[in-house]
Formats: sequence, C-alpha cells, structure tokens
Amino acid sequence: MADQVQRTLGIIGGMSWESTESYYRIINEGIKAELGGLHSADLLIHSVEFALINELQEQGRWEELGIMMASSGKRLQAASAQGLMIASNTMHKLFDDLQLATDLPLIHIADATIDAIKVQNFSKIALLGTQFTMTQDFYKQRLIDAGLEVLIHAEDERAEVHRIIKKELCVGDFKDSSRQYYIDVINGLAEQGAEGVILGCTEIGLLIKQADSPIPVFDTTAIHAAAAVDFLLADTTL
Ligand code: GLU
Repeated sequence: MADQVQRTLGIIGGMSWESTESYYRIINEGIKAELGGLHSADLLIHSVEFALINELQEQGRWEELGIMMASSGKRLQAASAQGLMIASNTMHKLFDDLQLATDLPLIHIADATIDAIKVQNFSKIALLGTQFTMTQDFYKQRLIDAGLEVLIHAEDERAEVHRIIKKELCVGDFKDSSRQYYIDVINGLAEQGAEGVILGCTEIGLLIKQADSPIPVFDTTAIHAAAAVDFLLADTTL
C-alpha cells in the first residue's frame, strides 16, 4: 500500500450544501496544488438536513442543535476522522458542544479568519453574516477578544443581509440586485473606516468576489478550506 500522506478530516456540512460544495472543491484544489497529480483530499463529510437545522435556529432551539452537532462529530470520529470542522459560521455557536463530544482537534472558522486578518495587520473590520453571527457573542466577541474592532451595519440592513442568505444564497439563487445590496452595505462600512470585510457566512463568497468590494474581503469559506488543507498535510507520519 502507498504511504499515507494525509490525515483524515471530518466536515459537518450541508449548511447549506451550496457552500459545502465550495469547501469540497477548494480543499481538493489545495491538495492538488500541494501534492500534484491525482492527489485529492482525505475527507469524511456528514451532510445534514438543512431545512431542519434552519427551523431549529429560527425557533431558538440551540440546545437541540448542539446535540445534533455533538452527534455528528461522534459519527465522524467513529468513522476515523482525525480532526473536525463545522462548515458554517452560524453553527459555530455550537462549537463548544462539539468540542465536549469528541477529543479531536477542531478547526474554528473565526480563528482561521482572525489569523488571515492579522497577516494584513488590520484592526478595524466589517462583519457580514446571518443575524446570529453578526450580533451574538459566540462569533463577534471572539474577534473582539483577538483585538479587532468589529463594524456591523444598521439593524434593518442586517435583516436584509440575513434574508438574502437564507432565502436566496442557501437555495442557489444569486441575484444581481442582492449583489448590489451587499456592495452598498460594504461601501457604507468602508466609509466608516473598515479596512476589510469578513464574508462571515459560507455562502456570501458565492455572490461577492474581491473585485466587487472596495476593501479586501476575507472569505471565510476559502480561509477555512485553506486551514483544512494545512490540517490534512500537517503530519504525514501518521
Ligand atoms: N452557511 C451560513 C453561515 O456560514 C448560514 C447557514 C446556517 O445557518 O448555518 O453562517
């Protein structure tokens, strides 16, 4: 048998599958860039039923969602994953539930993003994402604790940014009018002094590219996927 050159990573995905597809492609592209030839990523993906997840989020039933993330993590560990990641910013609200359920290393999406922002030496950063991600401590506070000043937009704009994610991007509907709405929001935050913008929802990168933005974008899907590649290749002696 050929030498094993990668670790196995478990991904809790399907939130939505539109963005998990991006993860799958970006991680495989990264492995191909590093190892060449026919090499591809050693992944286990547990793709969940997103309609149920979304309903529980809307009803504030986070405890049940925590149990689901814990159960998914255990299943991936039992299937031989050596590390885990949650392919959604919002669902990092349940990061601690996953951590308690397994003894595997976890790749946190905000930590990977903070590392990318620190490389640029930025300190004032805009955050786009679901209402949960933009306003709750599990995500925003993590950025603040890392020394970043976080700018979010006004409440009515937050509602629209959230609506576009859930009603359009998560079902694969990419409208020019919504792209323009996001660009206007980013322009407003740039005028307030944001040096960069976190695309803090794993579907936003499907709508907004760097060329659309007046300031550097930190696409959490691409950043998280790059961290996954680093993890897969971190210890080739395993
Ligand atoms: N994928 C999105 C995120 O990164 C939102 C979908 C979800 O609620 O998990 O936050």
